[in-house]
Amino acid sequence: MKRALIVGGGIIGTMHAVLAAEKGFAVTHLERDMKPQSASIRNFGLIWVSGRLAGAELDLALRARELWGDIGSKAAIGFRANGSLTIAQNDAEYTVMQEAAAMSDADRRGFRVLDRNQTIALEPELAGTYVGALQCTTDAAVEPPLLLGGLRDYLKSFPDYTWVPEFEAVDFYHDETGNHVTDINGRKFSGDYIAICAGAAHKGFIEEFLEQAPLRKVRLQMAATAPLGANLGHSIADADSLRYYPAFKDLSLDLLGAQSEIATQYKMQLLLVQRLDGSMTIGDTHEYAEPFTHEIHEAPYDHLRSVMTNIFGREVPRIEKRWDGVYSQSTSDEIYIRREIAPGAHVVTGGGGRGNTLSPAIAEETVNQWSL
Ligand SMILES: Cc1cc2nc3c(=O)[nH]c(=O)nc-3n(C[C@H](O)[C@H](O)[C@H](O)COP(=O)(O)OP(=O)(O)OC[C@H]3O[C@@H](n4cnc5c(N)ncnc54)[C@H](O)[C@@H]3O)c2cc1C
Repeated sequence: MKRALIVGGGIIGTMHAVLAAEKGFAVTHLERDMKPQSASIRNFGLIWVSGRLAGAELDLALRARELWGDIGSKAAIGFRANGSLTIAQNDAEYTVMQEAAAMSDADRRGFRVLDRNQTIALEPELAGTYVGALQCTTDAAVEPPLLLGGLRDYLKSFPDYTWVPEFEAVDFYHDETGNHVTDINGRKFSGDYIAICAGAAHKGFIEEFLEQAPLRKVRLQMAATAPLGANLGHSIADADSLRYYPAFKDLSLDLLGAQSEIATQYKMQLLLVQRLDGSMTIGDTHEYAEPFTHEIHEAPYDHLRSVMTNIFGREVPRIEKRWDGVYSQSTSDEIYIRREIAPGAHVVTGGGGRGNTLSPAIAEETVNQWSL
């Protein structure tokens, strides 16, 4: 049986483990921490097809969405095909959404523009004074607190899957017997194939393989509210997301006018997904200048709560938790960064703010290159 070695217990590494195990490899899965604690457990859990750039990126996202549906039916990860509503709070935003719903790939994305009454009919909790919404039926969500553990529980049903936490790879080499990583104590794991999926850990032994790679780190501020006291059927965004996501780059964005001062300063949009316990994960900001201070600033949360109050038409639950997270992002036309560092050995990172969304399709692109 051919052996696949996966470094990294985040969503990119774990999806590699899933796809490799399903294909019939014996999988050894290494993670430096006792439990992964990086971007993959700090995110919204959104599978966000709506914002993807037309062409190859959308194709990859739609393939990923298909794979998520399949994996979500087998693993307890809280997958739901809930779709999303991006809310237009004025006529200009609504006009741009009408353009979005007329894009040539709008049907593939599952776009439909709704007026306020149609939006409320779908989502009665959204009782604010907005104009309408862009619905996207292909968007979906998973539960970050369940995701990685749920996938590993599923992986345990494969007898040749081995999970190895607290193994920090510090060196890689390739020889005629295969691909190998070692830790600081000289412990070694080997495979016929290896995927090194270390997220935003760009340094250490990985640095030489990522030299010249167009990568940056991005830091986001996030929060969770108290339970809403009602069920939301969709994930929600505000129209600042039209400015942010590349799907909309050719639309009449100049109609939108200036973004609010706080949203501009913190490079923000509202994204909101209700968790299974009724709370709402909200965000986000974007910070690019390293080193990050990791300070949590209050102004973005005041802004998010005020946008939510407009959309819900009532006071929204208080914020109970705040945190931040950092992801690795490709800054070039490469949708994500893949480097073949030796025969059968890949470094894979840089999925950016859509790394969760794309993860199964990225893993599939690697595993398709591995033969049994
Ligand atoms: C706040 C926030 C919100 C986001 N929201 C979304 C969203 O809703 N939808 C979406 O699609 N994307 C979202 N993203 C992006 C997404 O979370 C990331 O792109 C994705 O999680 C990256 O996964 P990863 O496995 O590459 O990295 P990580 O999650 O960082 O995992 C890398 C793992 O590798 C381990 N590791 C590193 N070095 C070593 C080593 N030497 N040896 C062993 N193990 C090692 C680390 O400990 C870590 O567990 C968000 C990101 C953030 C920060």
